[in-house]
Amino acid sequence: MVRLLAIAGLPLALVLVSACSGSDDNGTSPSAAPAGTLKVITTVAPITSIAENIAGTKAQVTGLIPEGQDSHTFEPPPSAAKVLSDADLIVVNGLKLEEPTLEMAQANKKSGAVILEVGTETITPEQYKYDFSFPESGGKPNPHLWPNPQLTENYAKLVHKQMVKLDPTDASYYDANYAKLKTNLEKLDQQMKAVTQTVPEQNRKLVTYHDSWAYWAPLYGFTVIGAIQPADFAEPSASEVASLIDQIKEEKVPAIFGSEVFPSDILQQIADETGATYVDKLRDDDLPGAPGDELHSYIGLMVENMRIMIPALGGDASAINTVDTKLVFTDGPSPADYPQ
Ligand SMILES: [Zn+2]
Repeated sequence: MVRLLAIAGLPLALVLVSACSGSDDNGTSPSAAPAGTLKVITTVAPITSIAENIAGTKAQVTGLIPEGQDSHTFEPPPSAAKVLSDADLIVVNGLKLEEPTLEMAQANKKSGAVILEVGTETITPEQYKYDFSFPESGGKPNPHLWPNPQLTENYAKLVHKQMVKLDPTDASYYDANYAKLKTNLEKLDQQMKAVTQTVPEQNRKLVTYHDSWAYWAPLYGFTVIGAIQPADFAEPSASEVASLIDQIKEEKVPAIFGSEVFPSDILQQIADETGATYVDKLRDDDLPGAPGDELHSYIGLMVENMRIMIPALGGDASAINTVDTKLVFTDGPSPADYPQ
């Protein structure tokens, strides 16, 4: 079951959006989980989705960063301290993505609670990518491992291992969910290989606003030509834009991609000056569709990204439609509410 925190307007208010529950048969609010239920707190929506797939109806998963919010600059409200202090397992990406949340978790976690940094534990410092919006001089590696489904498989493995450790009674249930999720992630990887190979070789180049494809691109033979957003998440300078325009013209990049979370007029300007098509709908960490929709999952996020990206670069994304985007557990209703 999943609860998500909507932090809307009221700075101190934690609004627990009503959640599904297949297991609440005592008529209480779904937010009052049965005593002994494993409580898992997560940060960005892709990680929340991975955790909820494994947790199913046996653990309570609460996402902390509302979808559509900039996770790089997210500051948890003071009231999040209480939520973190109740958690048995706190799952963050790490790699310096959610530092204020991680600090709050370290300061408030109860004794015996586990903080799991799935990104930090998935790659070694030698594998860190420093690039356009994440220069080495800034000291923060590019944290976006999750567009790469092979790395996300490791996120799932780490989360599964901790859930089993903290709640051994439900181990076989978590094992079954994890096995199904792993199969679906492998299928996602396979079909991503298939659809990316339909893109003409000279078009396998990405220019995006937000710099979130660094670990995806090499896996599928793509090159990230540039990311437009500077390291401070402000707008790029005129000279940065001018040099990117030159590069896009030189490389004959057919399309440039904006994202839902970071709208910017600059992309339209770059598109006008280069003749590239501007596609503004790529998603970095906000899941497509509404809660309960089949696409509202990590896998749905990546499937939708392929449907947007591949045709814009001259390829055919139809093979991605065979990937199952649904949550893997079948013993309860799908989570009802995510804050949008
Ligand atoms: Zn990001």
